[in-house]
Amino acid sequence: MRIDLHTHSNVSDGTQPPAELVAAAVGAGLDVLALTDHDTTDGWQDAGAAAVRLGIGWVPGMEISCKTDTGISVHLLAYLHDPAHPGLLAEITRSKDARLTRAERMVERLAEDYPLSWDDVRLHVAPGATIGRPHIADALVAAGVVGTRSEAFATILTARSRYFVAHYAPDPVTAVELVRAAGGVPVFAHPVASARGRVVAEQTYQDMIDAGLLGLEVDHRDNPADGRAWLRRLAARKDLIVTGSSDYHGAGKPNMLGENLTSQDALERILELGTGSTAWLP
Ligand code: AMP
Ligand code: FE
Ligand code: FE
Ligand code: ZN
Repeated sequence: MRIDLHTHSNVSDGTQPPAELVAAAVGAGLDVLALTDHDTTDGWQDAGAAAVRLGIGWVPGMEISCKTDTGISVHLLAYLHDPAHPGLLAEITRSKDARLTRAERMVERLAEDYPLSWDDVRLHVAPGATIGRPHIADALVAAGVVGTRSEAFATILTARSRYFVAHYAPDPVTAVELVRAAGGVPVFAHPVASARGRVVAEQTYQDMIDAGLLGLEVDHRDNPADGRAWLRRLAARKDLIVTGSSDYHGAGKPNMLGENLTSQDALERILELGTGSTAWLP
């Protein structure tokens, strides 16, 4: 079984509509995929319908942007939660709204030095999608300022850049609690991806585990080998589910569908523990 539990559509910062993403997953020979757009579940309906039509397994998911009190970015994957849970919905709505204001402020700063307007950025955001730096990167590519999204992230869009603006995001412990309250399965995404920025200390893992964390995304291209070994030992010690996935973003990133996979055992544990929404398996 080829199981990939971390992908993005253009309902956040991927480049394909959900149904197209599901078709691409069939083309890549996957048996099961999860859609995990940033801070939204708006793609679930189209993705689920496409999965049923094309006969591929589908798990509803989401990736929640979080921030610790020391400002470290944490991404939390949620599987099979209730998308209408009021507490969780309130948090992701607050984040999504803050992302919009933040993107506008980043574009204002960038426009002082580069040929970039808010309308240029909006061209790259599907209606209602969760906006992020990748959409600003797309506009910078279109303006000829950089060649690719990755180049934009390596230069003017890094968190260290003078154009960077932070946005509201829930604390990871709060997010874990809310995902559990919504019947979902919280999995810490790419936890040791140090190239993206500072990563959390062991105490934060413990705090998240105490709050109900159920899994660690170990096999992800941004987790270095030594970090993966450490994560595997932690998962064994704490009886956490181990996942592996691509974090596919369509043409927006080099990550290829199925480049990392999750075991059937791990998927079964997720399906047993998630009670807030329903997966579809052929
Ligand atoms: P934001 O949430 O707006 O701060 O932007 C972070 C998002 O940008 C992450 O979720 C990634 O999907 C994406 N991202 C990070 N690094 C890169 C990169 N090098 N190339 C393309 N996309 C990236
Ligand atoms: Fe992303
Ligand atoms: Fe992420
Ligand atoms: Zn992701």
